[in-house]
Amino acid sequence: MAKKDIAWESLGFDYVRTDKRYVSCFKDGKWDDGSITDDDKIVLNECACVFQYAQTVFEGLKAYTTEDGRTVTFRPDLNADRMIDSEKRLKMPVFSKERFLDAVDRVVKANEEWVPPYGSGATLYIRPYMFGSNPVIGVKPAAEYQFRILTTPVGPYFKGGAKPITVRISDYDRAAPRGTGNIKAGLNYAMSLYAIVDAHENGFAENIYLDPGTRTRIEETGGANIIFIDKDGNLVTPLSNSILPSITRRSIMYVAEKYLDMKVTQREITLKEVEEGNFIECGLCGTAAVISPVGCINDHGKEIRFASGMDEMGPTLKKLYDTLTGIQMGRIEAPEGWIHEIR
Ligand SMILES: *Cc1c(COP(=O)(O)O)cnc(C)c1O
Repeated sequence: MAKKDIAWESLGFDYVRTDKRYVSCFKDGKWDDGSITDDDKIVLNECACVFQYAQTVFEGLKAYTTEDGRTVTFRPDLNADRMIDSEKRLKMPVFSKERFLDAVDRVVKANEEWVPPYGSGATLYIRPYMFGSNPVIGVKPAAEYQFRILTTPVGPYFKGGAKPITVRISDYDRAAPRGTGNIKAGLNYAMSLYAIVDAHENGFAENIYLDPGTRTRIEETGGANIIFIDKDGNLVTPLSNSILPSITRRSIMYVAEKYLDMKVTQREITLKEVEEGNFIECGLCGTAAVISPVGCINDHGKEIRFASGMDEMGPTLKKLYDTLTGIQMGRIEAPEGWIHEIR
């Protein structure tokens, strides 16, 4: 398959229009057959539920080219499951796992020229999303919906190496106790915009949110889960039901235990124990970067510096990063079912 003539290495994380997208509509209680279309415009009534009450959920995954030239996605079944959880929480009709997986394959296949070549560091980002589309003015779920998937090529997350970042402890909360923190809904991002712009204006790459109930425990950042390495070289990651269950983080936990023989613990982690220096490495994890090393957490002027420093990713996170990306790219044997080939 010929690829588009694009400087893949210099792509950023910005929307680039690709040729095809997928759309299926829900009306009169059922989903239609769905199709691939060229049309990148959506026309909706001014009172569509998504505009008035933000009834929308999404997913994010990527397609890429492996070392031996296959076009693959990484654990798309987990994106399907998580999107179903999100749909149910916002009273949206479920788009079945089978259809989700089929739609992802079809839209990637239709945009195969946009799937970046192996070694470029770039990937085709896949964004499934669903929204309530008919007019609603009294607060209630919509009766009609669209399930869509757009794709856009994105560049290597780290240009010139993964430099550790400085993040701060936020004064804002990202999720209410028993709220919607554990689903991938647009509303969780809308309310994080103020805090992220403020963080950037103050020189921080990201916000770390504390548990909204007591504000004593570490939860996650606006768009990535957090992992720590303790003094014994083991992996520790926060447990909370208002954290979004990152597929990258769950994969890292598996890789740590099964490939690298590390002890993996998911438990409540207090800000206090992080300040006391219990951890020697810290990273953010998500589909986009896989792992971003954190060199320093700033808690209202008090700096928590990790032993791994500000120059490069610490050795244990580096091992995890190399193993997981090796699995993704086909250089290391993957656990059963992790790599899905698109034919
Ligand atoms: C999407 C997302 C993540 C990362 O999840 P992955 O499945 O690893 O991409 C983490 N936190 C939040 C809040 C997210 O929305």
